[in-house]
Amino acid sequence: MPLPKAELHLHIEGTLEPELAFELAARNGVALPYADTDELRKAYQFEDLQSFLNLYYELMAVLRTERDFEDLANAYLARAAAQGVRHAEIFFDPQAHLARGVGMGTVVDGLWRALGGSEAEHGISTRLILCFLRDESAESALETLEAAKPYLDRITGVGLDSAEVGHPPVKFREVYEAAAALGLRRVAHAGEEGPPEYITEALDVLGVERVDHGLRCMEDPALVERLVRERIPLTLCPLSNVRLRTVDVLADHPLPAMLDAGLLCTVNSDDPAYFGGYAGDNFDAVGAALGLGEERLRELARNSFVASFLEDDEERRARYLAEVDAYTF
Ligand SMILES: [Zn+2]
Repeated sequence: MPLPKAELHLHIEGTLEPELAFELAARNGVALPYADTDELRKAYQFEDLQSFLNLYYELMAVLRTERDFEDLANAYLARAAAQGVRHAEIFFDPQAHLARGVGMGTVVDGLWRALGGSEAEHGISTRLILCFLRDESAESALETLEAAKPYLDRITGVGLDSAEVGHPPVKFREVYEAAAALGLRRVAHAGEEGPPEYITEALDVLGVERVDHGLRCMEDPALVERLVRERIPLTLCPLSNVRLRTVDVLADHPLPAMLDAGLLCTVNSDDPAYFGGYAGDNFDAVGAALGLGEERLRELARNSFVASFLEDDEERRARYLAEVDAYTF
């Protein structure tokens, strides 16, 4: 049995495996510019974040109907369950679908068909987090939040993702204020490719409660001190960092130094279909490459539940933490 864990940084569109991409393409009559799954898999060699994003958006063309989103989410949940995920806070990118004529209702209702039954079907509790694309305009983000209003009973929070450099958090001040007024939780990608200042800005201007990635905080000791003091969780994605060349090799990943510094780090898969592994694979990889022992892995698993948005269900959080504490490797 794998170590129980929560996954807090997972883009549902990034779980689209080549086999499912071809299945959905056939179902919807969408032509993919790849002969087969092998050729598509070969395209998964990325130079940087942007080269990944280009393929990520290209493949989304196969997602058209509620059933497509349901199948996508169920495929992820099944894989996550097999790797010990007990709770998943799932990002989705509505702007990438709205731009293709796929409505908010199709996306949310489709995802919810899987998420609503996830506990019974997969043993995973879930939350849904709507992400704004930071390389789109602030107005587009506001329109997206407006379009999401009929679905807020199923949306826990908002996030900010896509191409980071040149799109500082401050650009989204207004939409984050509006999200806060609606009672939504707030997270944002910051300090992946962008500078440590983006992390500070995400905290001070957007009021985020959790920072996605955030590993470049290590360039600023005062920021590290603040993140430790304020117990701000960071959702790290080690295999993603290697694939997108944020770090050269996994053995160079700053995770051990970050844990030593007292940061509340979690380990997640980001876009697992593209980056070579799901949540448990990331745990296994950092354990092996960074020499993390059992207690360090247990600490990471504990952190994932501590950092999760389970304030509305503390009894559940306590149960999950007890499972981690009782786990024998
Ligand atoms: Zn991400």
